Amino acid sequence: MRCEACRRARASLRGFSMDLCEDCFIRIYRRRVFHVIKAYSLVGRGDRVAVALSGGKDSVVALKMLKEYGADVFAYHINLGIPGYSDEMESISREFAAELGVEIHVTSLREEYGFRVVDIEGRKACSACGAVKRYLMNRVPRELGATKVATGHNMDDILEFFLKNLLSGNYAWNRKLVPHNPSEHPLVLPRIRPLFEVGERETLAYALLTDLPVRADRCPLAKFSGWKEIIYEIERKKKNFRVQLIRSVRELAAHMPGEGTVWRECTVCGEPTSREVCAFCSLRARVDAHD
Ligand code: AMP
Ligand code: ZN
Repeated sequence: MRCEACRRARASLRGFSMDLCEDCFIRIYRRRVFHVIKAYSLVGRGDRVAVALSGGKDSVVALKMLKEYGADVFAYHINLGIPGYSDEMESISREFAAELGVEIHVTSLREEYGFRVVDIEGRKACSACGAVKRYLMNRVPRELGATKVATGHNMDDILEFFLKNLLSGNYAWNRKLVPHNPSEHPLVLPRIRPLFEVGERETLAYALLTDLPVRADRCPLAKFSGWKEIIYEIERKKKNFRVQLIRSVRELAAHMPGEGTVWRECTVCGEPTSREVCAFCSLRARVDAHD
């Protein structure tokens, strides 16, 4: 079978609802990501972007793309203290940043705050981990002079959030499912998602084809949801289903009501929060109480 893009070379993989040769695949992948960066103004003059680098393929590719686009970037990694996982992710992140010639800053939750996400009781490790990441990914890069934070969330991740929000009736949350999430508070950095229009499988293929580090297994605590398989199943029958849906999700987001957050200062750390004590400080207090 011939490549559907160049019509010359033999097609060897499927991506973007097309049968493609490797060269066309790589070219189209980059073009899609650069289109997102440009069309949604992810980086502007004077921006310094902290790329939240987990060491997984998505954030590795996001960092590489932003660097190649010419953005002023540095990497930020959090060692969450998950046994048999976090130390290796930290090494991969450090090695990859060095290889790319990008500065990296690492926060070790255990060394700097005295606990690991697996030490938190009374709350599921994954939701605690989410709260820790949201907090540190904003505070630390901001203190290091970043003007924006980029994550490796890909199109399929966002479609999955969208479908879950839709089914649970959390419509307002869809407001955040955009490639460029502006800041709602002077101390909250805007979030950008350069992989907004490329999926999980395309990103894996891109990483493999361009020799980027790809770690085989995922976080040992993560649960398998099955949503991505469903999304790909639909795409098999409806060409370009995912990219069409993600563009609609983006337009829909603008029509969602705001959450009407009333911002306050955390009475413990002073960071912006909607509560008296922020989620991160509440977690720390809970861990301290158990010591
Ligand atoms: P996840 O919430 O694990 O699906 O990850 C989503 C995005 O958050 C990744 O693509 C990264 O950009 C970022 N991220 C996740 N874990 C870490 C980490 N330990 N350190 C830095 N960034 C992370
Ligand atoms: Zn706090």
